[in-house]
Amino acid sequence: MRLAGKVAFITGASRGIGRSIALEFARQGAAIAVGYAREAGKADEVVAEIAAQGGKAVAVASDVRDRAAIRLAFETAAAKLGGIDILVNNAGINNRCTFQETTDEDWDRIMTVNLKGPFVCSQEVFSHMIKRGGGRIINISSVAGQYHGPKTVHYAVSKAGLNSLTAVVARYGAEHNILVNAVAPGIMLTDQTADELAGPDGDKIVAMTLLKRAGHLSDVAATCVWLAADEQSYVTGQVISVAGGAVL
Ligand code: NAP
Repeated sequence: MRLAGKVAFITGASRGIGRSIALEFARQGAAIAVGYAREAGKADEVVAEIAAQGGKAVAVASDVRDRAAIRLAFETAAAKLGGIDILVNNAGINNRCTFQETTDEDWDRIMTVNLKGPFVCSQEVFSHMIKRGGGRIINISSVAGQYHGPKTVHYAVSKAGLNSLTAVVARYGAEHNILVNAVAPGIMLTDQTADELAGPDGDKIVAMTLLKRAGHLSDVAATCVWLAADEQSYVTGQVISVAGGAVL
């Protein structure tokens, strides 16, 4: 119960990595706001799973492209769960295309969700965390932010930007006891990567890791628990790679 008494808001927690973090945070005693954009039914399933394991959770509509929706989502979560101590900026999207294929629309869509979203959510959550005497923000980045592509040009730039945003927000959070870090997963088996791993590049992607396998969602969730828990209080502004040594 390393997160007992804490309230965590996780964006994009209806499936994949966000869902896994939500379930693990709940196992560690946190009350969870399960954020989603379109998949209300799937978010409700995560809430039910948490309730079934004895935890407390609510599903909260929170499209990170919409500042007013985010403000309302945080107010709703704080009212229902008693405040917000931890924000996980997990919501993220990708599409594979080369540099020349990337359109303006692709670029704007990815940047809006992956980079502007965490900026807006971090700004809007500050007042909630200040009321609680501090907090933790964890940005879910990617190995792509350090590896730079090749078929995810806009995505790689958005995650490199997120790594920079992590340090900038850590600078502003420090005086409020808000610690801000990023976790950068390598290849994990989720809806976003299932096609890629099953396709012709799948073996090559796995071969690029030192550990020669895709990661487990639990590896990311465990790292997030460590960053969120009171047991550590001196790590801020960092990007923690959970990528099986892929960049090496
Ligand atoms: P996923 O399975 O595709 O799930 C994406 C989640 O983001 C869903 O819950 C979705 O909600 C939500 N989302 C999408 N657009 C949104 C928006 N505009 N506002 C709010 N939520 C939105 O993705 P994943 O693979 O778990 O990835 C989660 C994070 O990890 C992303 O930031 C991704 O870049 C990063 N990552 C993933 C991998 C990997 O191997 N999977 C590796 C490195 C980094 P709805 O279902 O409601 O639409």
